[in-house]
Amino acid sequence: MQTETKTDITDILSQLGIKDANPAYSTGLTWGGENNAETRTIHSPTNGKRIATVNMASEADYEQVITTAQQAFLEWRTWPSPKRGEVVRQIGQKLREYKEPLGKLVSYEMGKILQEGLGEVQEMIDICDFAVGLSRQLHGYTMHSERPTHRMYEQYHPLGIVGVISAFNFPVAVWSWNAMLAAICGDVVVWKPSEKTPLTAVACQQIIQDVLQENQVPEGVFNIIIGDAEIGSKMAHDERVPLVSATGSTRMGKKVGEAVGRRLGRSLLELGGNNAIILTPNADLEMAIRAVVFGAVGTCGQRCTSTRRLIIHDSIYDEVKERLLKVYPNLPIGDPLKDGILVGPLIDKDATAAFLDALERVQQEGGNLLTGGEVLEGEEYATGTYVTPAIVEAEHSYHTVQEETFAPILYLIKYSGDVNNAIDIQNGVRQGLSSSIFSSNLLETEAFLSHWGSDCGIANVNIGTSGAEIGGAFGGEKDTGGGRESGSDAWRFYMRRQTNTINFGRELPLAQGIKFDF
Ligand code: NAD
Repeated sequence: MQTETKTDITDILSQLGIKDANPAYSTGLTWGGENNAETRTIHSPTNGKRIATVNMASEADYEQVITTAQQAFLEWRTWPSPKRGEVVRQIGQKLREYKEPLGKLVSYEMGKILQEGLGEVQEMIDICDFAVGLSRQLHGYTMHSERPTHRMYEQYHPLGIVGVISAFNFPVAVWSWNAMLAAICGDVVVWKPSEKTPLTAVACQQIIQDVLQENQVPEGVFNIIIGDAEIGSKMAHDERVPLVSATGSTRMGKKVGEAVGRRLGRSLLELGGNNAIILTPNADLEMAIRAVVFGAVGTCGQRCTSTRRLIIHDSIYDEVKERLLKVYPNLPIGDPLKDGILVGPLIDKDATAAFLDALERVQQEGGNLLTGGEVLEGEEYATGTYVTPAIVEAEHSYHTVQEETFAPILYLIKYSGDVNNAIDIQNGVRQGLSSSIFSSNLLETEAFLSHWGSDCGIANVNIGTSGAEIGGAFGGEKDTGGGRESGSDAWRFYMRRQTNTINFGRELPLAQGIKFDF
């Protein structure tokens, strides 16, 4: 790897221990080794400057990583889970130590504002804490047997290699959600980060090195492999990878899900969202507007849980519109590492093009662009990735509204009558990730949470669609892929479940009273 020399980023990289040379990790990794010739240069979406040039993994690298990981699994699975938890605890401590530089690197490489970059690292710390506790709680049920002197219980065993494919917008947190749970479960992890944000992945690997070495963690428990979709696809087809946890677009998830399904492996899919907030006549608009703005423009509309649709009762529609139109033109847009900035850039020019294209199409369908939709120009915005967040009045049925455009576009949709009409609109898209309602009316909020209410994996009351805590299981339904990761009992998916029946008597009674005497 060669790094950019004359920007502040060199400081950040050196604080993270990333040096100018291709680092040789002792614990299993290969992130593009010496076997290949292909390199990729990463530019920051914040200022267009080159951050680094990374080696892309070849097939030989891939093989090396997978075989090292397979070997490591044989030893790692024999470690008692609380001992594995102790390693994760120390990783959490390291992340605390490096929160600031890693948060900055996330911000610089991905483009989210520093507060959100730091928040992302905090999520990693939180999941480490969660996983440490969990390492003493990997429990199954015990059941009463129908047969005398028999005992039944179930237990959970490690699976093997967990392949993690992650998206650019949460370049490090998604890895930790998967990797920390997998690690305490006794699995080993091969992480293929987004090719758009490989450096933060290298940084994570670097940060945890000392902990792995000091604890004599076998080489190959935490691996990264820098590559593009092809490497991800190899993992999806590879029978040596029993679980593939893939985060990204629905298009990608369908391919990965199909490939893993064809070999009857397990896939955990965390895909696109098209999230809505419902504002009923009983909404506290002061609170709601803050949640809507954070949800729609935070991370420049590039969260899977970003608010894309606002479903507003017709009695309050004009007021909501007016309030939003007061806030939007004054949003501070610019370098995400600067104090006071709330909206950073899109990830690249392709994302800008997709933003403009969606706005054009929705207007052709009859949408009314109320504000935003421009690409900012001038020295500070020379990358062509800074845009003004847009608000469009639209009909729910428009094709463009039915899609996820990964950019800050908020569609205002009117509903009339009771809350069930709003819920129908909210559910009337293919995606099913996050949803929320603002109302202080119990009948409305309970209808939203009932079995005929929101069909999403996440349904919130009086908070927005984005900004989940790690304690809950995270994921969504329909085109969002059905996976659950992070908190609650998501860990079970990273283990294989075994039912055990033990006979401690001297007879061999058969279940269901079957007689089979000879
Ligand atoms: P993307 O689908 O372009 O890429 C995501 C990852 O998948 C990358 O690492 C990429 O290399 C890999 N990939 C792409 N095609 C593949 C294939 N055929 N086989 C294997 N791997 C493949 O997504 P992106 O642009 O990086 O991220 C944005 C998308 O991710 C949005 O749709 C967003 O909603 C979604 N996302 C979802 C969640 C969630 O938890 N539900 C979280 C973050 C992002």
